[in-house]
Amino acid sequence: LKRAKETDHVEVYNVGEASVLQKRFSLETDLRRAIDNGDLHLVYQPILSPYNKKIVGFEALARWNHETLGPVSPAEFIPVAEESGLIVPLGRWALESSVHTQQQWDKQAGYTLPIRVSVNVSALQLMRDNLTQLITDIKKQTGINGERLTLELTESALMRYPEQSISVINTMHELGIKISMDDFGTGYSSLSYLKTFPIDHLKIDRSFVTNLAEDKTAIAITRAITSMASTLSIKTIVEGIETPEQKKIIMDLGCDYAQGFYFSRPLPVDEAIAFYMASNRN
Ligand code: C2E
Ligand code: MG
Ligand code: MG
Ligand code: MG
Repeated sequence: LKRAKETDHVEVYNVGEASVLQKRFSLETDLRRAIDNGDLHLVYQPILSPYNKKIVGFEALARWNHETLGPVSPAEFIPVAEESGLIVPLGRWALESSVHTQQQWDKQAGYTLPIRVSVNVSALQLMRDNLTQLITDIKKQTGINGERLTLELTESALMRYPEQSISVINTMHELGIKISMDDFGTGYSSLSYLKTFPIDHLKIDRSFVTNLAEDKTAIAITRAITSMASTLSIKTIVEGIETPEQKKIIMDLGCDYAQGFYFSRPLPVDEAIAFYMASNRN
């Protein structure tokens, strides 16, 4: 497997197509093996209140350290996983692993932490996998309370399978699990979807935040989203906060929670619990 930089010459030989396919195939083969061998791991990014800095949860994000390529970005391997169907076993692993980690944290802390971990769930998992069965099994095997979990579903996944989505959301609610609509603002982003899907949290995509400090329109849009969400009792989480200016703006807009490098990068298991203990002390 070669990285893009090393294959710059392929255009000259006009074998670009074959090469892209080959690369994808070998990434897929490697990913399948990585999932089987337990070579993936999760990192945890705090989701917190920008007002008091208290952590309310973490988002679990998959990482892959390829044995020869080094770290491969989720932006690269998640699409491969979705196209190949590997997202189903990967998604199952992510749920199991994050529950395992929470129980490890509880043990370390000596009490049940009042936080939730958010796990990304792809459209294919909604359709192909019996998500309800999976969650029920995990709850039975681990004894984890549904109140420790949030599922992140993208706006586009929800829209692709609206009926299935609504039914899954209702079942998850019965189990105490909350639902976030992820990447809001990257798809069609009609505010009317907020009424259609009985979601608990709305994650405003990083692309909005990038221009927040300069762009009056971005502020106006974020204000409209926040006020609509609040009318529907949906909490807003703003992604990708990198600067104090951005933090101040989202606080002025009354957004509920924030996530971003300004507060913390995604952290390994041990650093995440340490960060939690430091932030939520007293
Ligand atoms: P996402 O679910 O929207 O996750 C947020 C992404 O934004 C993460 O990228 C996170 O590291 C990044 N991020 C957070 N704060 C900042 C910031 O302040 N600045 C910048 N530049 N980036 C920030 P990551 O970890 O690379 O993941 C990318 C995407 O891959 C995720 O987007 C999610 O869609 C997908 N993904 C990751 N893990 C999983 C998984 O276990 N299952 C599924 N289905 N998808 C996953
Ligand atoms: Mg997410
Ligand atoms: Mg997101
Ligand atoms: Mg995003």
